[in-house]
Amino acid sequence: MADPELQQTLQCIRCGTCLNHCPVYTRIGGHAYGFVYPGPIGKILNPQIEGLKKAGALVTASSLCEACAEVCPVKIPIPQLLRRLRSESYSTEPSCTVKEYGCRHNLIDSLTWKGWEVINTRPRLNAIGHKIMGFVGSKIPPLGPLKQWNRYRTMPKFAKKSLHQLVEEQGVENE
Ligand code: SF4
Repeated sequence: MADPELQQTLQCIRCGTCLNHCPVYTRIGGHAYGFVYPGPIGKILNPQIEGLKKAGALVTASSLCEACAEVCPVKIPIPQLLRRLRSESYSTEPSCTVKEYGCRHNLIDSLTWKGWEVINTRPRLNAIGHKIMGFVGSKIPPLGPLKQWNRYRTMPKFAKKSLHQLVEEQGVENE
């Protein structure tokens, strides 16, 4: 309540519109993730009540399509608050306010995202990375957690050509 951004969560009138328009919750039903408050609003409310250790996974389980924010009659910016909670899960900044902030912070994650930043802020490196993934991506066998995921799903195929390559082939300038 003391946090001006997160305080917007409390404007909810529990109309359920966000649940009925969310592409995920319209298929899986209300209490699929085991918390009292379901749906997109639950994704931001539960972590603030229960803490990010127990309920932090909820904030990562979203594609951020923003359908919830579009239909909410009281204009709660759910995707913005999801991003804020995600950030607090990993941040150790003293300005964080959510219970158990920083609980997901670890060295491997930090290094992974640092690497991601390095690759994706350098166009040449990014293009090389895309070429490599296009070539080896489909040949990587489903191991570890991917193996479980693939029990009921088909592994998506990596495109042979990146969007940049396709655009170039169409004669569009690619900078
Ligand atoms: S649409 Fe808005 S007001 Fe309605 S339940 Fe969702 S967050 Fe609450």
